[in-house]
Amino acid sequence: MSFIFHESCPICGNKNLKEFIRTNDYSITKKNFDLYKCSSCGFVLTQNIPNQESIGIYYKSDVYISHSDTNKGLINKIYHVARAIMLDKKAKLVEQISGIRKGKLLDIGTGLGYFPNHIKSRGWQVQGIEQDEQTRNQAIKSFNFKIESPEALYLMNNQEFDIISLWHVLEHVHDLAGYMKAIKSNLKDEGYLVVALPNSSSPDAKYYDKFWAAYDVPRHLWHWNPTTFEQFAIKNGFQLIEKKPMPMDAFYVSLLSEKYKGSNLPIVGGFIHGFITWFKSLNNSDLSSSVIYFLKKN
Ligand SMILES: [Zn+2]
Repeated sequence: MSFIFHESCPICGNKNLKEFIRTNDYSITKKNFDLYKCSSCGFVLTQNIPNQESIGIYYKSDVYISHSDTNKGLINKIYHVARAIMLDKKAKLVEQISGIRKGKLLDIGTGLGYFPNHIKSRGWQVQGIEQDEQTRNQAIKSFNFKIESPEALYLMNNQEFDIISLWHVLEHVHDLAGYMKAIKSNLKDEGYLVVALPNSSSPDAKYYDKFWAAYDVPRHLWHWNPTTFEQFAIKNGFQLIEKKPMPMDAFYVSLLSEKYKGSNLPIVGGFIHGFITWFKSLNNSDLSSSVIYFLKKN
């Protein structure tokens, strides 16, 4: 197993990275990982991450939720109900902000393929990219559109997508620069890159600290907030057009964080802190537990 120690900040290049929070892989291996923060731009990253070839074992779980269709347990049931509501909201939001209808969409990190399949039903042409072979094959079996491995992303050239979407995916990607370059070359000039990410400056992140479920180490390699993500976007040749909150995420993340914290009343605590973040994010997407960024090429 090989681990990567980051000597410098991938956003601003500063070499002064400082220890920030020690957290744990609560869901699968129970191993500790340290988060480091850039002293210049404030970007937070997971230090000593397993490299791309060896990170697979950190995903090996029946319960790793976005790759599973398990319906066991209350948290999973809540997740699946929320997902059904969110699919429709996401599709409508993409159409509303881009002003594009029935366009061509590439969904990177498509998982079981639910999002592209949903927007396809609204007249879109869709394709997917999925890293995990088993998940990819299951999605191909369920739905009738092209889903390829990430290698295909590097080989695509001028595919001219109207929308390229990454829903809670970029935080898992080792090769940030390579992905951003491939995305840029395959997005139409008037097209939109849509990126949803956990927000490490949200009230729930601050309250739960090392127990915050969306740190999800070592699977989450990078921990953006609206400030650091905008800097990242600019560095990669994009401009931020719009931010939207994902208010429902606060409830799920808070409930899971309560569980990691060993709370006696996870449902009560999770609801209260989910509600606080949800309420604060109503008028300020920068305070949402997760944020959707809409970007255009510069
Ligand atoms: Zn930095």
